[in-house]
Amino acid sequence: MPPQTTDTVPEDAPEHCPGTESDQAGKADACAGCPNQNVCATAPKGPDPDIPHITKRMATVKHKILVLSGKGGVGKSSFTSQLAFALAHDEDTQVGVMDVDICGPSIPTIMGLEGEQIHQTGSGWQPVFVQDNLAVMSIGFMLPDKDDAVIWRGPKKNGLIKQFLRDVDWQELDFLLVDTPPGTSDEHLSVTQYLKESGIDGAIVITTPQEVALQDVRKEIDFCRKVKIPVIGVVENMSGFVCPNCKGESVIFPPTTGGAEKMSEEMNVRFLGRIPLDPRIAKSCDMGVSFLDEYPESPACAAYDHVIDQIRAQFE
Ligand code: SF4
Repeated sequence: MPPQTTDTVPEDAPEHCPGTESDQAGKADACAGCPNQNVCATAPKGPDPDIPHITKRMATVKHKILVLSGKGGVGKSSFTSQLAFALAHDEDTQVGVMDVDICGPSIPTIMGLEGEQIHQTGSGWQPVFVQDNLAVMSIGFMLPDKDDAVIWRGPKKNGLIKQFLRDVDWQELDFLLVDTPPGTSDEHLSVTQYLKESGIDGAIVITTPQEVALQDVRKEIDFCRKVKIPVIGVVENMSGFVCPNCKGESVIFPPTTGGAEKMSEEMNVRFLGRIPLDPRIAKSCDMGVSFLDEYPESPACAAYDHVIDQIRAQFE
């Protein structure tokens, strides 16, 4: 009999898969040689007594959005930060950023919060505020030195993500943006499992135009489908280089297979737009300031605005 696809039995699992939420997941005889064995052995399983606490905490968050990328280095955290700055431009919109890229937390630097620390109060962990309506939580705030490596296995990472969702006092938020590590790993499975009852509004997928990046994006979209997270859309980042002086554009990563737009069409997901490379984006990220506020006249800023307007429109 062919393997069945259910919520807990992935398509690529062998015939006698015990189910990803079983105590035996990753350990049963059937798991030997299964491509998911590593993830199943470390991911949280069974009914989790913390889920009701997470659901209660998340009840004050209107929209939960994941920011994903197939590969590292495509500008996912830069995009997350610019989206957060843009949403928080409206002072009546409350925005939170949760950085679950545990082994490579860059959000504190990009958002100008290096050296800040988390405080604990009776109502939970207090996030760090960029401004009154923009709060951030990251493991980067917990490291004694920003150059310290975080070498954690799955269960410890899962535990921290759970604490971020259960114990952080986000208060009322319109948007919580979850910046995830590249690929589909423990962190993604944990977030989706912990937020199963609260619901995730959708995922934004960031890529660069070349085929080698798009291959991983297809897997990312497939992951979203398997865990039933709607794809808000795909953003093609570093899509050409615009010279800040002459405004001429050059191609850096040739879209040999049609780029993210064609891939989005093929995968039947929304294409949100292209953002060109501009060295001032990296400079703004290093300085921890909003590129959109610093260089409102740049072509990259107009591209960001176009993409962000489309995202915002989906929640109006
Ligand atoms: S490793 Fe996971 S997916 Fe694979 S058979 Fe075991 S429980 Fe099923």
